Amino acid sequence: MTTCYINGKYKPLNQSYVSVTDRGFQFSDGVYEVISVFKGELVDLNLHINRLFVSLKKMNMKTKFNRNQIINITNKIKKLNKLKMGIIYIQITRGDQNPREHKYPDKLKPNIIIYSINKNFEYLNKLALKGVKTSLYPDIRWHRSDIKSISLLGNVLAANHAKENKSHEAVLFDNRNMITEGNSSSIWIIKKNKCITHPLNFRILKGCTRHKLISILKKNKFKFEEKKFSIKSLLDADEAFMTSATNFVMPIVKVDKFTISNGKPGLNTLKFRSLFINAI
Ligand code: PLP
Repeated sequence: MTTCYINGKYKPLNQSYVSVTDRGFQFSDGVYEVISVFKGELVDLNLHINRLFVSLKKMNMKTKFNRNQIINITNKIKKLNKLKMGIIYIQITRGDQNPREHKYPDKLKPNIIIYSINKNFEYLNKLALKGVKTSLYPDIRWHRSDIKSISLLGNVLAANHAKENKSHEAVLFDNRNMITEGNSSSIWIIKKNKCITHPLNFRILKGCTRHKLISILKKNKFKFEEKKFSIKSLLDADEAFMTSATNFVMPIVKVDKFTISNGKPGLNTLKFRSLFINAI
């Protein structure tokens, strides 16, 4: 049975509960992180913990925990669950409030949950050799997608649309037909040997994998630009791929009925994937 850290205690996951008065349950008033564990190592731990504290700050949420304490609990959960391949899930909500009210008092005690899920990355390695199909879906989310909030209804609907279309991921576009990001990934294209991805602003999450890949691109002197690109540019791209903590670098070979380039994973994309995996 998976062990879960919940508000100071380590309990079996199926015996870990929060109250119905939890603001996360009532209002999705909380933040989260997903950190991969690859061959027993936490991937980009510091980037994820930094982003968690950025999200907390943007939500005006205070916790008595500091970065090191969260890192220690994360490591302990990894050890207790003997996790070699999978993810660590961290969720912090603003806490319990009774009676229910949209406004929150300053003194709430956040609910903190950390547990792990086994995941088979070998399956994703196999998938990467073929590349994945994606589906377009309008970006109907709120305008603060830079916060890693547990309010994920827009992402959930997009992901399910992708599933119904036998796609691996939904690619979101705004009301000007410009690509923002994936339902749970950053989206990239390569055109004339230059990597392009959406600039950082309120409309997208600052992906940790995106951040790491940018430093790999710079190190390898591969041209790169943060700029908006349209649905048409995606369909006309030489290569396309997505990045996320669980997918690493995943080639995109189809967008709905359209084939990207020759329908095979791009050579640069596969190179970036292996550079990324070597780096972790
Ligand atoms: N964008 C969204 C909406 C996400 O949910 C995620 C990850 O879950 C990402 C981008 C990629 O972020 P990361 O590379 O940190 O996993």
